[in-house]
Amino acid sequence: MLANNPGPFTGPGTNTWVLGDDSGSVTVIDPGPVDSAHARAIMGVVGRRRLESVLVTHTHSDHAPMANHLASEVGVPAVGYAPGPSFDPDIRLLDGARFDVGALSLQVVHTPGHSEDHLCFRVGDVLFTGDHIIGGSSVMVDDMGAYLDSLRKLKGRGLTALHPGHGEVRDDPDTVIGWYLAHRLQRHEEVYEAIASGCATIDQVVEKVYAEVDFSLHPLAARSVQAHLRLLIEEGRIASDEDVAASLPL
Ligand SMILES: [Zn+2]
Repeated sequence: MLANNPGPFTGPGTNTWVLGDDSGSVTVIDPGPVDSAHARAIMGVVGRRRLESVLVTHTHSDHAPMANHLASEVGVPAVGYAPGPSFDPDIRLLDGARFDVGALSLQVVHTPGHSEDHLCFRVGDVLFTGDHIIGGSSVMVDDMGAYLDSLRKLKGRGLTALHPGHGEVRDDPDTVIGWYLAHRLQRHEEVYEAIASGCATIDQVVEKVYAEVDFSLHPLAARSVQAHLRLLIEEGRIASDEDVAASLPL
């Protein structure tokens, strides 16, 4: 179900997933921002089935804020990795955990990178990916090293479909994950080359590496560059005389 929150960061809006077994047990993944019309629509899809829990992939404002409201209204647990700005989990899930929804067994995969608290949920060969992998546009990455590791963790694992937090379902997971990895690693080298050729500030790197990207998106690109710089520093390939993490006015 599509939440009514389209925008530059959310594409057409947040995908809320209602997932259930054959006996009528149901969970909701990512109910989205607090929105009574969307809550009614979710409960309409749940219908006569039993909503047993409300899950969040991560605590960003387009995914998690309605989880506690919905969960407490129905009297079921809100479930996620950790507390966030507008989310307080009743049950916390760690990497490798199993979480049952009736006869369904969800496997929890911790996938930090977009955010430190990000989880994907695997059911059979299907993965609910939140904002780790999305349809149609580029993911904002907070920690590039963690993000690349979280992509590698999912590749070649026999997945047959990705159900993202934004955009369309994909039925070619390994191709998508391979493309995501290649794209990020190419950018990583481009950022390194920009510095090697004399760029001395984040803005200069953005102008060189993201020259083809619309100017209005440069502040977003600057955040990606920042994530690449931090990884290059971790890798020992560059040094910085300022705190890269603190050097952006965002
Ligand atoms: Zn999102």
